Amino acid sequence: MKVAVIGGGWAGIAAAVELTSAGVETTLFEAGRVLGGRARSITVDGRRLDNGQHILLGAYRETLALMRQVGADPETLFERRPLQIIDNTGFRMALPKLPAPLNVAWGLLTAQGVSLGEKLVTARWMDGIKRRRFQLTKEITVAQWLDEGGQTGRLRRHLWEPLCLAALNLPAERASAQLFANVLRDSLGSSRREDTDLLLPRVAFGQLLPEPAARWLSAHGAKLKLGERITSINRSENGFDIAGDNFSAAILATAPQHATQLWPELRLNFDFEPIATVYLQFGPKITLAFPLLNLLGKHGQWVVDRSNGLLACVLSGHGKWEELDDEDLAGSLEAELAVSEKAVWHKVVREKRATFSAQPALLRPNCTTSNRRLFLAGDYTWADYPATLEGAVRSGLRAARMSLKR
Ligand SMILES: Cc1cc2nc3c(=O)[nH]c(=O)nc-3n(C[C@H](O)[C@H](O)[C@H](O)COP(=O)(O)OP(=O)(O)OC[C@H]3O[C@@H](n4cnc5c(N)ncnc54)[C@H](O)[C@@H]3O)c2cc1C
Repeated sequence: MKVAVIGGGWAGIAAAVELTSAGVETTLFEAGRVLGGRARSITVDGRRLDNGQHILLGAYRETLALMRQVGADPETLFERRPLQIIDNTGFRMALPKLPAPLNVAWGLLTAQGVSLGEKLVTARWMDGIKRRRFQLTKEITVAQWLDEGGQTGRLRRHLWEPLCLAALNLPAERASAQLFANVLRDSLGSSRREDTDLLLPRVAFGQLLPEPAARWLSAHGAKLKLGERITSINRSENGFDIAGDNFSAAILATAPQHATQLWPELRLNFDFEPIATVYLQFGPKITLAFPLLNLLGKHGQWVVDRSNGLLACVLSGHGKWEELDDEDLAGSLEAELAVSEKAVWHKVVREKRATFSAQPALLRPNCTTSNRRLFLAGDYTWADYPATLEGAVRSGLRAARMSLKR
């Protein structure tokens, strides 16, 4: 059996590793010069940066298992910290190292700047959601869900809305409540304390998975075709002709718009949301109280402390910030941050199609297609999660296992 995996993002990497470890002759085609797709490292002005900030949680089990499989040790490559939600208005919710669900209960009870009455309403609401196993009875937005649950106070603005933006890349007014509930189920609602931990990369993103996976795949006999954009997939007697070679099956692990170009019958039609990352370099002494800060202001959203005075501001989803050019956006965020010194360098990285728009009742395809030898992988195919690394990895594993089964 010889399988082509087209697309070397985290979904394609997962599929290629799974196939290769099952003894399948695997070729991974990637249009870019490096693996990683939307979660890759880039070089700007001689600096190694990430294409965007990626926030991982201990709940990303398949991602962490895949890293271990290719020889990348999550315990050394990530700094693991109990979750804290802190913002620039004084709100703070810190989870202690207690067993779940005590950690979340304690974190909520001791959250600063919230009345006891509001905390009790929220605790009851969360308990109800848990008892219903995080299953909603209808497709609504996160904002509607919060309204129904009486979440209209400070916790909405300082906890739920920022979490929704971080997890779904969409404001609560447009985001799917069911997808958000799924994320809460596997993080704040998990029975494993470690699932709520924040995993902060100690290295550039490429070193977490794409580079170790490339080495592992080559060492285990897979063919890596980097810088090779596939322009057509042709049916053949026993499978497909792709880039002059014959394969018995293929996994399309590209973003949906590219998958449709290669296989028009798929007719995948998604709306997308942008993300901008505004890197601001201050002097090495500038540091955040916690590596992740929710900046409540005109444009600011989440800020990640990349150490040595480098702060990365993340702007998620369509918004007013898109009207600003790079200079104005960097200037505006620098002002919002109100750091005691001026930034010496900045860079704005914009991803117009960062994620699909995770709105209510969104139809997402399975990994199978009408051709029994062609499979789909990619964050958009996974129905349980929004566009995340864990969703991408799971989708790649699923497509590989399905192709092996067939
Ligand atoms: C700025 C930003 C921030 C994010 N933040 C987070 C976060 O905090 N946490 C989180 O979990 N997720 C986050 N995400 C989402 C996460 O990055 C994606 O869900 C994940 O990387 C998607 O992986 P994928 O393999 O499905 O797709 P992609 O990464 O898009 O991979 C598809 C690959 O296919 C290749 N390709 C396309 N066409 C062809 C062709 N014809 N031939 C060969 N190759 C082709 C592309 O070059 C690409 O490498 C973020 C995304 C962005 C952009």
